[in-house]
Amino acid sequence: MTEPEYDLAIVGAGIVGVSCALWAQMRGLRVLLLDQNPPGSGASYGNACTVATYACVPVNSPSILTSLPSLLLSKESPLGVDWLYALKNLPWMIAFLRNCSVARVERITDDLGGLLSYADSGLDPLIREAGAEDLMVANDCLYVYSSANSYRAATAGNEARRRNGVSFDVLAPTEIKTLEPALKMPIHKGLLFRGARHVSDPQALVERFHTRFVSQGGAWRQSRVLRTMSGDIGVNIGLEDGTELLARKAVIAAGAHAKAIDGSGVSDIPLDTERGHHVMFKDHGHLLSRPVGWADAGFYATPMAAGLRIAGTVELAGLEKPRSPRRIAYLTRKSHEMFGDLGAPDEDWLGFRPTLPDALPVIGHSPQSDDILYAFGHQHIGLTLGGITGRIIADLAQERKPNEDISAFDPKRFVRR
Ligand SMILES: Cc1cc2nc3c(=O)[nH]c(=O)nc-3n(C[C@H](O)[C@H](O)[C@H](O)COP(=O)(O)OP(=O)(O)OC[C@H]3O[C@@H](n4cnc5c(N)ncnc54)[C@H](O)[C@@H]3O)c2cc1C
Repeated sequence: MTEPEYDLAIVGAGIVGVSCALWAQMRGLRVLLLDQNPPGSGASYGNACTVATYACVPVNSPSILTSLPSLLLSKESPLGVDWLYALKNLPWMIAFLRNCSVARVERITDDLGGLLSYADSGLDPLIREAGAEDLMVANDCLYVYSSANSYRAATAGNEARRRNGVSFDVLAPTEIKTLEPALKMPIHKGLLFRGARHVSDPQALVERFHTRFVSQGGAWRQSRVLRTMSGDIGVNIGLEDGTELLARKAVIAAGAHAKAIDGSGVSDIPLDTERGHHVMFKDHGHLLSRPVGWADAGFYATPMAAGLRIAGTVELAGLEKPRSPRRIAYLTRKSHEMFGDLGAPDEDWLGFRPTLPDALPVIGHSPQSDDILYAFGHQHIGLTLGGITGRIIADLAQERKPNEDISAFDPKRFVRR
């Protein structure tokens, strides 16, 4: 019988997969990383760049049913829904709503808060290992609320942040304008998350991790994985070009596309996508000194190496439809409200956040086989949680118990129900 050539094969080279690869390599495992696309070119490319260790409050909210009509009917809404898609995916929508009760949202917030409290300890060793310190900017992060209503609506969530150890200052409009004088939208109040960092180019961060991984002998293959099948001596990995590979264990880190991998068991997991868009204004990066999340508008404006990125909003419309001109027009219009006339964007983009209806990632053993590990579903905070997910996966691959309590992220939670 052939011995597996690799200890661990990882499917997907986004921030999650590459972090798993580098952590596992640092622990001495022989690792193969696979992706048909360049590293960091999926959701990890176009996000809002924040290392959002304060972002434990999920999109699920007890007020969703009362706010839904205005969110859906208003032209100025950060939420878009393709009704045909929603009807076809009714079980997911119902499961999402079930996770909007006060008790569930509190539980989810605490579970996310627990994992986020380890985020830096998972990310920083990778940054050091890859020499990527120059891509990190430590200048806090700001949330802005334009009205008393939107600030009030966030009260429970902000109290839950404090309960989870997140510290922030509440700022008055004058204080916010002193920090960020270019802001022109109405300002009621803001929150300043002290110590928060952002990345000046998230794809470059993934590329740095990847370069380090390859330079230290990690195997990299640019190919789509069709299948992962658990057998007697490990996991068979079937590639699009017909090649079959063998590894002791495999990790599914294919983000929102994980369901398409046969034999992995992911098709039984209610993984869907929250689509997000961005627009870039390449000559306007100087307008801000830190990321500013405009709560009412559902996006961040982030100063990057390549300009000003306006990234966010949520669209429920699946993986197949192209980018939405309506969402892009919304982001452009709101950018002009935020900063004045910026002209036309230089780039627009659509990305697929991998999301479970309970807003918790799936990190752990596949319900079908202990040799297949899952690492996906990090919704709005995958850039932040990629590093710690990588460390947990390295523990599981070595059959060690992680320090963190990962019971809430167990893939089997969906099988039990
Ligand atoms: C608009 C927007 C703003 C965001 N802002 C933030 C933020 O500020 N902070 C934050 O922490 N998070 C943010 N996020 C979320 C974050 O970007 C994602 O959670 C994260 O990128 C997910 O990483 P991933 O590695 O799981 O997925 P991806 O980056 O999508 O990577 C998955 C990879 O798997 C590969 N793949 C898929 N199928 C296969 C296959 N069959 N075979 C081989 N490879 C395969 C894909 O090609 C892809 O490269 C944002 C997301 C969006 C859309």
